[in-house]
Amino acid sequence: MGRQRTSTRVTFSPKVFIPLTHLCRDRCGYCTFAQAPRHLPAPYLSLDEVETIATQGARAGCHEALFTLGEYPEERYREAREWLDEHGYASTVDYLVAACQRVLDTTGLLPHANAGALGREDLARLRAVAPSQGMMIESLNPDLAAHRGAPDKDPQRRLETLEYAGELSIPFTTGILVGFGESRVDRIEALEAIAASHIRHGHVQEVIVQNFVPKAGTVMRDEPACSMEDLVDAIELACTILPADVHVQAPPNLVDDIGALLDAGIDDFGGVSPVTADHVNPERPWPALDALRDAAASRGLELAPRLTVYPEFALDADRWIDSGLHFALLDRSDAEGLGRDDPGAVFPEAYADAANVGTGAEVVQIGRRSTAWYSGADREPTTLIPNPVAVGGAVREVLDGVLAGERVYAEELAVLFAARGREVAAIAEVADELRSRANGSDVTFVRNRNINYTNVCTYKCTFCGFSKGPLSLNLRGRPYLLDDDEIVARVVEAASRGASEVCLQGGIHPDFDGDYYVRVTELVKQAAPTMHVHGFTALEVLEGSRRLGEPLESYLTRIKEAGLASLPGTAAEILHDDVRAILCPDKVTTDEWLMVHETAHGLGLRSNVTIMFGSVEHPEHWISHILATRDLQDRTGGFTEFIPLPFVHMASPVYLKRKARRGPTWREVVLMHAIGRIAYRGSIDNVQASWVKLGIPGVLQLLKGGVNDVGGTLMDENISRAAGAAHGQGLDPEQLQTEVERIGRRLLQRTTLYKQTHDVQEVAG
Ligand code: SF4
Repeated sequence: MGRQRTSTRVTFSPKVFIPLTHLCRDRCGYCTFAQAPRHLPAPYLSLDEVETIATQGARAGCHEALFTLGEYPEERYREAREWLDEHGYASTVDYLVAACQRVLDTTGLLPHANAGALGREDLARLRAVAPSQGMMIESLNPDLAAHRGAPDKDPQRRLETLEYAGELSIPFTTGILVGFGESRVDRIEALEAIAASHIRHGHVQEVIVQNFVPKAGTVMRDEPACSMEDLVDAIELACTILPADVHVQAPPNLVDDIGALLDAGIDDFGGVSPVTADHVNPERPWPALDALRDAAASRGLELAPRLTVYPEFALDADRWIDSGLHFALLDRSDAEGLGRDDPGAVFPEAYADAANVGTGAEVVQIGRRSTAWYSGADREPTTLIPNPVAVGGAVREVLDGVLAGERVYAEELAVLFAARGREVAAIAEVADELRSRANGSDVTFVRNRNINYTNVCTYKCTFCGFSKGPLSLNLRGRPYLLDDDEIVARVVEAASRGASEVCLQGGIHPDFDGDYYVRVTELVKQAAPTMHVHGFTALEVLEGSRRLGEPLESYLTRIKEAGLASLPGTAAEILHDDVRAILCPDKVTTDEWLMVHETAHGLGLRSNVTIMFGSVEHPEHWISHILATRDLQDRTGGFTEFIPLPFVHMASPVYLKRKARRGPTWREVVLMHAIGRIAYRGSIDNVQASWVKLGIPGVLQLLKGGVNDVGGTLMDENISRAAGAAHGQGLDPEQLQTEVERIGRRLLQRTTLYKQTHDVQEVAG
């Protein structure tokens, strides 16, 4: 029985326990957590101890710092009261607020406060330092022997806490304890009360259904444990009684048969701690993540790490999360609002001013370094494309349709972009098959040079670390404008080194009129008549035509006659105006970008589709982008390739202003390339991976997931470097050739329009 699953996803929270104090004024009959002062070295952990535990957790890849503590210990123990007085705290909650803040500031872990039955004021204070809070209802039966001597287990007080949390818009975790003396009717009553509170406020993100296990040294040590039948029944009750948007969790460390919990309907395993033992149940260590993954896999389900708040709340932060915590959440989020799943530490990052390097800029990072993979970072991504895997569910259905020749639309794309675990590899496998059918085993690149003629720009794209205002505005970095001689010298040098293309793009200089682009094109063609001029974004040509007051078509025709052969697809970012309003509010709109490319295609100029992903947008925006460009391609056939460009966050203003994510996760990168191959099948035959942003090891992996092209050698690439990318300023084809051959493919040099190909050595300059 249980709830009808709507997806294959089962979540868990990678977390570290911080037992702030083991003192508690309550005496619950089943508890081993609470201890007397004489058994403890100190009444509370010091802030330094808190930070040490949290840092260990962050290093191991946790997202959550779960604060566990007894209720109001200062009301019962003189030692607790004196410790708080000595350290300047009015109450345990007062100290908890300080501890949460320390963890946030030093580790970036998201505190989850579990401080028991609190009043409205305490809940509100904790809301400012913890994105989520929790308190088990346990049971509403007032006569349970287990709660004798536990004033905080008064049902009325706990219901009030649940209600206050709703009124204060606090994403809340609660739950029931099963088999500790309560009846089935009691369970139903508690679940109905939780459901009613959630219906009033929408704040209950999950309900834990926890089975009672007798523990040595407790009053209830001789009581029978909750039976599996009762636990399964309680989970099924929860799935039936609670609204469908309330997640149901059962702790997997308290049962032998994890699969039975999944069969009963849970969709979350709760916290998994790689560092400390579960301080609440120290005698039953958390099972390894592998055991959870295996149990899920045996039922066709996939694990996904989440944050302390579920995506429904993380993605509606203005309503649910204190504004001071928005960035802390964003910094650990993926595009779906789940936890980033690249292994490694995710510490808050701090940067000093950028230092000028040539015509670009380099980021100077200060403080502790994160060790997870990011686009632009000099670190190898994890391997997500292993050998073929078998998966079921909706992803399999979509992939079977793809292999049978069906086209994917929004619904299918949403299924594919939500893929996790083995599903990702299965999608990559199908993309690889489509790549093989379309391109054979050839991997192509173009020998080219970037010429970014100016970094002065009147636009204010919030993601752009490249553009500089005029010096008088005193913005960081040195503005430059290459003179004609310098442009010509670079073209001549590129030609002498065997380049077949120059790629021209730059900032929108206030002094440019539209004729600048015509003149630069002429300069290039005069210096190297056979050079392919690939240049000018949709923004540049639209701006050029506007400044001249000339219709776009006539203007583009003039640049074409001057020698322009194709346009880059940059300036697309995300083709969805809600996202553009954040990333590039004054730049071309979605319709304008599409119109410029349609006009260019109409004149016989080819172009490509780029997508800059991993900053502020979500999968729905990726889907919109892909479908809009595919529709245009259906009309014109003018796009040559699809180029995913992972957002490089390090020196990007929107990240430095704490308003964006840290670029895509590696899983998202793999999916974007593979799904691009699938979505554009029969429409755009080339999928390119950007070595500048991904590094060669990343590109080599993507070559097995739908990618057939590695772009240009790009002597003098500056734009990604200006945003903080650490990969070099040029690609060495000879070196890449060895690597490509190692995976059974052949590296060939191509022209910009994929017309002819040559062996790497044949034309090496
Ligand atoms: S992305 Fe282009 S248009 Fe936007 S600020 Fe940077 S250089 Fe200017």
